[in-house]
Amino acid sequence: MARQRKPDWLRMRPPSGQRFTEIKETLRDRDLHTVCEEANCPNLGECWSGRNGPGTATFMLMGDRCSRGCNFCDVETGGMEALDPDEPENVADAVAEIGLDYVVLTSVDRDDLPDQGAGHFARTIEAIKERDPGILVEVLIPDFQGDPELVDRIVDAGPDVIAHNIETVERLQWPVRDRRAGYAQSLSVLERVDDTADVYTKTSLMLGLGEYDHEIYQTLSDCREAGVDVITLGQYLQPSRSHLDVYEYVHPDAFETWRRVAEEELGFLYCASGPMVRSSYRAGELFVDAVLR
Ligand code: SF4
Ligand code: SF4
Repeated sequence: MARQRKPDWLRMRPPSGQRFTEIKETLRDRDLHTVCEEANCPNLGECWSGRNGPGTATFMLMGDRCSRGCNFCDVETGGMEALDPDEPENVADAVAEIGLDYVVLTSVDRDDLPDQGAGHFARTIEAIKERDPGILVEVLIPDFQGDPELVDRIVDAGPDVIAHNIETVERLQWPVRDRRAGYAQSLSVLERVDDTADVYTKTSLMLGLGEYDHEIYQTLSDCREAGVDVITLGQYLQPSRSHLDVYEYVHPDAFETWRRVAEEELGFLYCASGPMVRSSYRAGELFVDAVLR
């Protein structure tokens, strides 16, 4: 397929300003990684500054190599390293130092570990909450191969929002995601969270991978049925030429239509939907607006 030119609505503004520099230095000093920087996220300036409410940053736990290899994702596969036992405390210290009110934690998949990293993930949530129970913590968790006990370990640590990404419609799970991931397995994780916890549940979907409208609608409905409260929809962007091609750049008007369908017809608490939206896009501001105000 011929490569498509990026439309104007996907041009990014480079991040800058004192807040940006402060956060960057704190992360460097503590040798911590954020998805915001590693993925060169187009929303970095907007999220870190938290212009209209709490700032958001997404910390990446358990290293920068993943035991899986999804065809849309730029994270390196294999060569897994031992966990850093100090990481939970280090992240909690950095969150306090930076003064974030809303923090997003995510991780690579760690199928190589006996508990797939659930304990390490949970300890990080607990360390942040021990320092200040008022900090809102959103976690974007792996599927833990659908093991409900590992999902419960996360729930028990007391985060405020638990997200797990379904990523794409059922028909495209493969080739988009690693073969160990799957539509039913991801829905089961979301359902487990909804059934066992008084916590907000969230998921994300990338558009522009060749999905049909009726498949998007079905996915939104299935997620709502599984008890998901919040959904985000964003444009898939190809990280490199060796990743999946972009099938289509979806127009901003179409994203707005899906936002209305999700919120007004299907009853999601809110839907962040737009070409540049990512799972954690302005997560703090939107959560506070929709839930706490
Ligand atoms: Fe990337 Fe997550 Fe897939 Fe790993 S499991 S390759 S981090 S999307
Ligand atoms: Fe970071 Fe997520 Fe915002 Fe991107 S959308 S800058 S990854 S918090």
